[in-house]
Amino acid sequence: MNYTYPENGASLVIDAAKCTGCGQCVNVCPHAVFEITNRIAHIVRRGSCMECGACALNCSAGAITVSRGVGCAAAILNRYRGKTGECNCDSTLNCC
Ligand code: SF4
Ligand code: SF4
Repeated sequence: MNYTYPENGASLVIDAAKCTGCGQCVNVCPHAVFEITNRIAHIVRRGSCMECGACALNCSAGAITVSRGVGCAAAILNRYRGKTGECNCDSTLNCC
């Protein structure tokens, strides 16, 4: 389930001139924030972005910038409690 908050993802930016349309951001984003249209990535669900930074880390073209916030609160809390594998957000980051 994706939650949407109007203030989320405010720092997320794609430089369309650098984007190669490789789709890696679509693959790694756990909240389906991006879609590829006309061979370029577009932000289609900004409010679902939790500013985890995975897209920017995995964009080899350097086309994405985002200010990493605290990331996924559920993963952080679970790690703190010594619990892993209890999140069902479908993340491919192995963050939880
Ligand atoms: S990972 Fe980067 S280059 Fe690839 S589609 Fe996404 S923004 Fe474009
Ligand atoms: S920062 Fe994380 S949640 Fe936001 S668009 Fe990038 S991968 Fe998705």
